[in-house]
Amino acid sequence: MQVWLDGRVMPVEEARISPFDRGFLFGDGVYEVVRFFDGVGMAMRLHLERLERSLALAGIEGFSAPEAERVMHAVMRAEGLRDAAVYLQVTRGAAATRTHIPPTGLRPTVFAFASACAPLSALDQAAPIAVVVRPDDRWHRCEIKTISLMGSVLPMLEAARMEAEEAILVRDGLVSEGSSSNVMVVRGGAVVTPPIDMDPSILHGTMRHLALEAARAEGLIADVRPLPVQEMLQADEIIIVSSKRVLAGVTRLDGRGFGDGEVGPVAHRLIRRMRDGVQAHLAAAR
Ligand code: PLP
Repeated sequence: MQVWLDGRVMPVEEARISPFDRGFLFGDGVYEVVRFFDGVGMAMRLHLERLERSLALAGIEGFSAPEAERVMHAVMRAEGLRDAAVYLQVTRGAAATRTHIPPTGLRPTVFAFASACAPLSALDQAAPIAVVVRPDDRWHRCEIKTISLMGSVLPMLEAARMEAEEAILVRDGLVSEGSSSNVMVVRGGAVVTPPIDMDPSILHGTMRHLALEAARAEGLIADVRPLPVQEMLQADEIIIVSSKRVLAGVTRLDGRGFGDGEVGPVAHRLIRRMRDGVQAHLAAAR
């Protein structure tokens, strides 16, 4: 496997990172995951804007979003992939020793790799997904896409015990987001999802943005407002969106069947709209 580290592509066996890297010692870094179809990044502009914002909010200097796009294409090329998910992380860099206050003049450590994913034709239908509902015990700055993810890993350990693939996180009776996704529900003709500027905030999801556009294009109401967990449990459909999965429909919740146990019709309509959007983008890029 070929990865990007320290300004170049190399075999993963050659990749070396200092144990004093602040990503390793403090989780002091940010990341992005971008889904590529036929070599073109889905919602690339939104990803680069978010990376820029994460870097600025974290105060990490010395790496810019346009560079990230070049790195992502480089790891795709190195692996000979056209349909993939690319992971890219930027830490504050390696210091000489461990101190909470970072020394000045650190060079950020940039690491990236690509993994093969299904092609665009797989977006013909929304996949089923089993979820659990768990308390949101994470920090209050979830608009920063930090690599400090223990608050997401712990509910996922519980999800795994229940043979579920995602944990929907709830704070003060309101749905915030999934451990690695945004959450939407369908009620009648409306798609309801929590606002990104909640207090505490949630991640500005790229697929959330595209799914809301798709809902409007389908003639549905995009209702962005706080979502009580009780309302979610009584919804017609629950939808999970993220770059890795694009869009999935909840069929199991907390170990029991949800709804009629099938992915709902709106989930299928939305993912097809999103697929058509990618197709149009690919055609324009050629
Ligand atoms: N919320 C959280 C906490 C995430 O980690 C992710 C993706 O990793 C998302 C939402 C979905 O974001 P996107 O659709 O941009 O992948």
